[in-house]
Amino acid sequence: MAFPVPITSALHDALTFWLPLACAGCGDPDVFLCDGCRGDLTPRPSRQERDPGLSVVCGLPFEGVPARVIRAFKEEGRTALARDLAPALAAALAVSAPPGARVTTVPSSRAAFRRRGYRPVEMLVRRAGRRPERLLRLRRAPGDQRGLGDRARRENVRDVFAVRAVVSGPVVVVDDVVTTGATLAEAVRALRAAGVADVRAVALAHTPRRRSLGGEWEVIGT
Ligand SMILES: [Zn+2]
Repeated sequence: MAFPVPITSALHDALTFWLPLACAGCGDPDVFLCDGCRGDLTPRPSRQERDPGLSVVCGLPFEGVPARVIRAFKEEGRTALARDLAPALAAALAVSAPPGARVTTVPSSRAAFRRRGYRPVEMLVRRAGRRPERLLRLRRAPGDQRGLGDRARRENVRDVFAVRAVVSGPVVVVDDVVTTGATLAEAVRALRAAGVADVRAVALAHTPRRRSLGGEWEVIGT
């Protein structure tokens, strides 16, 4: 980018920070998100039967370009990418959310909110044309799930959510990235325990799972 007037390097650094002109998917310069990478965000809904009575529907695989764009959206403050990621979440919601369903999100920790200054999942839900409601809150901050196996992740998030408001009618719980599904399963469990009969689970993306840990992701035809 050429600047018409001399500017201090500090200001230049600040502008570079606020205008990160490299593709979030492939790093190509001078473009926010290139056409090729935008094409890689085309919704590819898939479903996994996780536990009896709980299937999780996701809009994208968390790999390659989608994974890099999601990281840039969540961790680098590139909130404008919500617009490009929302169609995948909307596609997953269209599969899983019955008409009239309330939509809630897996709450982020206070530390994560302070660090980012925004709530990525709520932002995506709004961009996907739904109104997120805060039906859950954290009782405590869960420990880091990274590096833990399926069973350890379940233990780590056990009883981590409290239900703020019990509603009638179906509820869809939304998260950003599903790894083993332990967090979403715990959110669903908490809502059911509070008396919500019909709870569904949706995420923007899922990590490709190691076969030994559970069911396959079944691609849903659109
Ligand atoms: Zn690109």
